[in-house]
Amino acid sequence: MRARRRKFWGWGYEDGGPTPEQEHGITKALAERFGGPLELVAPPRVDEIELRPPRVAIPEALAPVLSHDPADRLAHTYGKSYRDVIRALRRCFDPAPDLVAFPADEGDVAALLDWASEARIAVIPYGGGSSVVGGVEPDVGEGYAGTLSMDLRQLDRVLEIDRVSRAARIQAGVYGPALEDQLRPHGLTLRHYPQSFEFSTLGGWIATRSGGHYATLYTHIEEFVESLRVLTPTGVLESRRLPGSGAGPDPNRLFAGSEGALGIITEAWMRLQDRPRFRASAALRFPGPDGFAQGTEAVRALAQSGLFPSNCRLLDAQEAATSGAGDGDVAILLIGFESADHPLDAWIARAVELARDAGGELPDGEPRLSAGAGAGAGEGARTGAAGAWRSAFLNAPYLRDLLARASVVSETFETAVPWDRFAAFDAGVRQAVGEALRELCGAGTVSCRFTHVYPDGPAPYYTVLAPGRRGGELEQWDAIKAAAADAIERLGGTITHHHSVGRDHRPWYDRERPDGFARALVAAKRALDPAGVLNPGVLLPPQPGR
Ligand SMILES: Cc1cc2nc3c(=O)[nH]c(=O)nc-3n(C[C@H](O)[C@H](O)[C@H](O)COP(=O)(O)OP(=O)(O)OC[C@H]3O[C@@H](n4cnc5c(N)ncnc54)[C@H](O)[C@@H]3O)c2cc1C
Repeated sequence: MRARRRKFWGWGYEDGGPTPEQEHGITKALAERFGGPLELVAPPRVDEIELRPPRVAIPEALAPVLSHDPADRLAHTYGKSYRDVIRALRRCFDPAPDLVAFPADEGDVAALLDWASEARIAVIPYGGGSSVVGGVEPDVGEGYAGTLSMDLRQLDRVLEIDRVSRAARIQAGVYGPALEDQLRPHGLTLRHYPQSFEFSTLGGWIATRSGGHYATLYTHIEEFVESLRVLTPTGVLESRRLPGSGAGPDPNRLFAGSEGALGIITEAWMRLQDRPRFRASAALRFPGPDGFAQGTEAVRALAQSGLFPSNCRLLDAQEAATSGAGDGDVAILLIGFESADHPLDAWIARAVELARDAGGELPDGEPRLSAGAGAGAGEGARTGAAGAWRSAFLNAPYLRDLLARASVVSETFETAVPWDRFAAFDAGVRQAVGEALRELCGAGTVSCRFTHVYPDGPAPYYTVLAPGRRGGELEQWDAIKAAAADAIERLGGTITHHHSVGRDHRPWYDRERPDGFARALVAAKRALDPAGVLNPGVLLPPQPGR
């Protein structure tokens, strides 16, 4: 049987995504919304792209794990942001790595790091390549003899399970589905479901501090990291397995969010969950022009109640309509609880009460309670508004490629901000992006949902949809994104809540972090990576070796 091939220019498998009939229906709907007819750019083929010849020869000793193959180089040129897909559709693969490595074990990783440090070759760790911030793009500036993308896909096993402490030692290159497949027979789950779950890896999640399944409490992956094993050009670091420790700054936290600039994460002991058996969910409606503001108050009450729902997603009216969960006039609040241990009736009842106090309406048939169902991808109920939203959520990455081919500007940005500033923040961001859309695209929408919430504030996630100009989409999006990022900075948010910094967010990150912290980070990089070969350009400016 032939293995399914992944697209080198976009999301998912070559044979995945919408069927030709669905493509036709979607383009017709887009043409009606933005004016048409819309023509689709044909996806690129490997044989029509001319790549710069590799600047580095493969040393004999490393030949079994290194590739010059154009298909490999193309597939490791970009991540999966809108900018990435547009450049691929333009057949521009200028930053392609000279080489791609597929290490089979830690010995290979160490040998590759030794060689690269010696030969001044930049090494870009590559998990699933789902970065949306330029994190895996070999754009490292001058000062390097070449670039190497290190794909960790062969480090894909669960090595050890500690059932008593409910933890597992897991190799970093494992993809989400393969990880859950290996945990399922033990009745365990990591329950980390970023939208990119299908094509992203444990190491990538840790290196970017990814945000997953839990909307409250355990919002980022590092909450589940018990210990890490990291290979650096100066040796191996391994933290001790502990449920908690007050012994100085936490070494795990130095590498969570290090984006491949400090070392290659090869293994992690991860805290696991028993698979949930009980679920309760509700979808509340907040109609009218004040619906989103009322929903926001409901979420704040919930986030501060100590109930800690696993799902707590507020969709504004536009977002709810786009996903089919609403009709364009109502904001929708999705609440979900899950447990392996106890029924959740009391939790959902109190959560619904809080949401109703803030003006929420509960449709017939809600809340939904279930017991004994197996663990799923974890977005709550599969029917009604929650079901519609969940299915749109899972299909969105596939749809985005189609929108890019139709020259529709389609991208997201995300942040977090304290509750006391949220209303002014949201209004300011929408105004800045709205003006940019009118000026650059003539039309377009910006919608908002909360992906994660905290007792002291939400993590709002904005989606932009606008008619692009064929050949100008990249420049249009870059200007819209700059307007959004400037507004976020001005209004006191963070440049990223969970998408990470990469290369794209660096100018804003440089201003957001304290100076002394930046100096400490530079010193840490020098100590661990003296030749400056590890992912130059993410988090810090490239610092080629002395
Ligand atoms: C459609 C879509 C949906 C998304 N949804 C979410 C979401 O819900 N939540 C979220 O947080 N993010 C999301 N993202 C962003 C992205 O999926 C995350 O940043 C994810 O954690 C990246 O994992 P990866 O394995 O693909 O890493 P990659 O993209 O391969 O790498 C990301 C960064 O980590 C570094 N890296 C990778 N592996 C290692 C390693 N083993 N050791 C050291 N460094 C390493 C890379 O060098 C790079 O800097 C989404 C992206 C897309 C395209």
